[in-house]
Amino acid sequence: MSNPSHGATLTINTGALAANWRALSRLAGAAEAAAVIKADGYGLGTEPVARTLKDAGCRTLFVAHLSEAVRARAVAPDLDIYVLNGLPIGSVSTYLTHRLRPVLGSGAEVAEWRDQAPEGTPAALHVDTGMSRLGLRVEEVGDLPTVFRPRLIMSHFVASEEPANPMNARQIAAFERISALFPSSVPSLSNSSGVFLRQHQPIREGLVRPGYALYGGNPTPGAPNPMADVVTLAATILQVRVVTVGETVGYNGAWTAHRPSLIATVSLGYADGYLRSGSASNTTQGGIASVAGQEVPIVGRVSMDLITLDVTDVPGAANLRGEPAIFIGPGLGVDRVASALGTNGYEILTSLGGRYNRVFV
Ligand SMILES: *Cc1c(COP(=O)(O)O)cnc(C)c1O
Repeated sequence: MSNPSHGATLTINTGALAANWRALSRLAGAAEAAAVIKADGYGLGTEPVARTLKDAGCRTLFVAHLSEAVRARAVAPDLDIYVLNGLPIGSVSTYLTHRLRPVLGSGAEVAEWRDQAPEGTPAALHVDTGMSRLGLRVEEVGDLPTVFRPRLIMSHFVASEEPANPMNARQIAAFERISALFPSSVPSLSNSSGVFLRQHQPIREGLVRPGYALYGGNPTPGAPNPMADVVTLAATILQVRVVTVGETVGYNGAWTAHRPSLIATVSLGYADGYLRSGSASNTTQGGIASVAGQEVPIVGRVSMDLITLDVTDVPGAANLRGEPAIFIGPGLGVDRVASALGTNGYEILTSLGGRYNRVFV
């Protein structure tokens, strides 16, 4: 469904998103499956993602910022919405107005919330078990359980996508020790990969917080992806040109043709969030696309609005004007794209730019 006013089309399969949530919910067993929709729903759009998950049966959302929570609240009036980045100074009234729940992550935040919010207003308490970013240190919890009853008690895995990492067992043990001090709070530890870790290493928790896997990312790296693809990114081929031996392609002449070549120039660039690390020279590989069902390499630098592909080996390459080049799609999932671009799939998704023709199917 390309649109000539846009250079590229981002198709978001909301059915696959809903199916991924239901699959995670089944895996979570008796625990509730919440959904993490921070960073604009991992780049796919806060509102459509929140609506889709709500319709699938999800009852609890997590975002990073208060502004994201206010947007989610507008389309999900009845869901519980937690804000992971905590309580910015002076924000209690905004939380109360929109019935949002802070994830309190320091003694200062707990004190401010207890001072200003009516007793019993739902909030989460974040205890750090190894990440050293947010959350009270274990020894800071002290006598808090006698005076404060958070609705949710949570911590966050450092490396749950590595099942053999000894950090996992240490974090699970520390978390279960702390959460036992808050018997009236719902314990929550697992992110996407944690949901799969739980299948081998049971975790006492009442709510799981998957994000990445909802959007089609592989929560079990090294094993086949159990999740359905959600995102397809297709950019239009603007023209196919002949490049003779010895001619270079793109800025700084980073790639030189060593055979008579057909180069497809495509309407996609780093301004769309396609990372510049997908650039390729004659000695370093970069990103990949699929044209007419065949995989082709990026050649030369990724520029702001254009990418060049070597389509010499694609049958009928001279006639590809107006055809799509697929940069994310079946067989080219976000994890594979990420490894070609030297990053992780989270960054691929959250970099998706603002000028695509976005189609929700
Ligand atoms: C982002 C985040 C999640 C979700 O993690 P995924 O790996 O995307 O499933 C869960 N909990 C916290 C605290 C997070 O910051």
